[in-house]
Amino acid sequence: MSDGQQMTRRQMLVAGALTGAAVASSTLWAPKASAAAAPAIFYSPHQDDDALGLAGSILEHKAAGRPVYLVLVTKGENGDLATLMNGDPCPLTTWGASSHPCAAGGHHNLSWPTDGTSMIVPGRTAEFMASAKNLGVDKIINFNLSDAAYGAPDVYNAFVNKVKAKVKALAQQYPGASHKFTAGWLEVTDTHKAISDAAYLLMKEGVLTDVRFNYVYAYDKPVSQRASGAAYVLNIPSNHMTIKRNSIYCYNTWDPSRNFYALGYHSVPDKLESAHADPREFVFTIPSGYRTGQITQPMTSW
Ligand SMILES: [Zn+2]
Ligand SMILES: [Zn+2]
Repeated sequence: MSDGQQMTRRQMLVAGALTGAAVASSTLWAPKASAAAAPAIFYSPHQDDDALGLAGSILEHKAAGRPVYLVLVTKGENGDLATLMNGDPCPLTTWGASSHPCAAGGHHNLSWPTDGTSMIVPGRTAEFMASAKNLGVDKIINFNLSDAAYGAPDVYNAFVNKVKAKVKALAQQYPGASHKFTAGWLEVTDTHKAISDAAYLLMKEGVLTDVRFNYVYAYDKPVSQRASGAAYVLNIPSNHMTIKRNSIYCYNTWDPSRNFYALGYHSVPDKLESAHADPREFVFTIPSGYRTGQITQPMTSW
């Protein structure tokens, strides 16, 4: 890793401790929503996808006077993450060349149940709520769906149908709204793919017309390849990038008294570091020849 990356990580760690102050100041920045404009509705598959790859676009729409609603699609259950959080010393600090600083100083002193739900769902959701507040969204909607896209095809399809029904209800409740998903066909998780499938099917049915997809896992790729195929690259203005970084810090704050365990950072440290360093977001339209169904590569659950 380069010295530049190291510096970014240290900056994140330090700034993560300041998240509370950042949340308070950013609410002053947020423009008043226009009651006449239809909302832009952003769908975050899990807690952390909002900060990774939606935040700049959310701020862009807010600045244009659009009401912005942010949907959390799944509960984000994750037994592996609970196991990781129980590790001592913190596994983030023991990954050799790719090690990361731990917001808890390397020791969590946790013994959480590893059912994937008990501490993980409320912890991840606390981080999401802090991020959403930091972004100044006008409404937060929690679909609260079990993250069940990893099962057999019929389980996957049942999950797609649940997402479809909830998105359709929002489309009917807010006529003229634009709908912003993630580019699940590029993102190598069944959950993200299932949500894209739901959007695709609703477009085919004519329920959704104004639809875009932010490639929130673009930050895994080399910098020069991230924009490949995008319909639009958002160059995030520096004042918005400051706010986006504050949302990233919401996922790297250690304060158990407020239910903050830096779970986002312990899940996807590399993605968050890369997104922190790249002031761009990548907006796609649905590809021609889109195919529904599970992604066949090995999955991770975040
Ligand atoms: Zn996700
Ligand atoms: Zn740690």
